Amino acid sequence: MFDVLIIGGGASGMSCALVLGSAKNQTYAKYKQIGIITHQKTSHLQNALFNNVLGLNPGTTGAPILENGKLQLATLYPHVQQIDNEKATEILKTKQGFLVKTNKTEYTAKLVVVAVGYTNLMTIEGLEDYIEPHPRAKIEKNRIWLKNTDHKIEENLYVAGTLAGWRSQFAIACGSGAQVATDILTLWNGGEHTKVHDKVVV
Ligand SMILES: Cc1cc2nc3c(=O)[nH]c(=O)nc-3n(C[C@H](O)[C@H](O)[C@H](O)COP(=O)(O)OP(=O)(O)OC[C@H]3O[C@@H](n4cnc5c(N)ncnc54)[C@H](O)[C@@H]3O)c2cc1C
Repeated sequence: MFDVLIIGGGASGMSCALVLGSAKNQTYAKYKQIGIITHQKTSHLQNALFNNVLGLNPGTTGAPILENGKLQLATLYPHVQQIDNEKATEILKTKQGFLVKTNKTEYTAKLVVVAVGYTNLMTIEGLEDYIEPHPRAKIEKNRIWLKNTDHKIEENLYVAGTLAGWRSQFAIACGSGAQVATDILTLWNGGEHTKVHDKVVV
C-alpha cells in the first residue's frame, strides 16, 4: 500500500513528488511509500513555451521539462516509485484509504493527490461529486475544478494544480503541488509544520 499516490505527471504532480521525495532523510518520512502515476501525454506543458517564468531561460519549452522532471525524480529520489504508461480510471474509497484503478491494474493508497489538469476531459470515476465549473477560468473554456478547501477535497484526498481551482500559470501549478506535498509532510510530522530546504555548505 502506498502512503501517498499522486495521479498525473505534469507541473503540479511532478512538483509534489519532488518535494515529497526530498524529505527522505526526515524521520517522519523515512519509510513512507510514495508513488506517482507519471502520465504526461496530455500535460499542458507538452506545447508550452516559457518566457515569463523565474529561473527558466526564455524560450524554454515544456516537453523537456516533463522528461527531465522524471529523470530528476529518478536520480535524486529513486525511492519514489514512478508508474509509467498507465492512466487512472477510477478512485474508490476503502476502509484503509483508497483503491486507485488504472487502465492496467490497481493500487491501494492511504492518501491520494489528483493532479490531472483542469480540462473537462478528466474522466476518473469516483470524482463526479466534486466536479464544478472552474472558478478562475473563462466560462466558455469549460474548465473544471474539484471543489476543495486548501487543496483538500475530503479527508486524505487532495487535488493540486489547475484542477484545484488555480489559474493556469506554470509557477502557480508547481507551487500548488509543492503546497500539497508540505501539507502531507506536516501531516506525517504529527501536525507540526515542516518544509524541506537544502542549503549551500560553506
Ligand atoms: C500552449 C500553452 C502555453 C503555455 N504557456 C505558459 C506560459 O508562457 N507561462 C506559464 O506560466 N504557463 C504557461 N502555460 C500553462 C502551464 O503549462 C500550466 O499552468 C501547467 O501545465 C498546469 O499544470 P497542471 O499540473 O495543473 O496540469 P498539467 O501540466 O496539464 O498536468 C496534468 C497531468 O495529468 C496527466 N493526466 C491526465 N489524465 C490523467 C489520468 N486519468 N491519469 C493519470 N494522469 C493523467 C496528464 O497527462 C498531465 O501530465 C501554457 C499552457 C499551454 C497549453
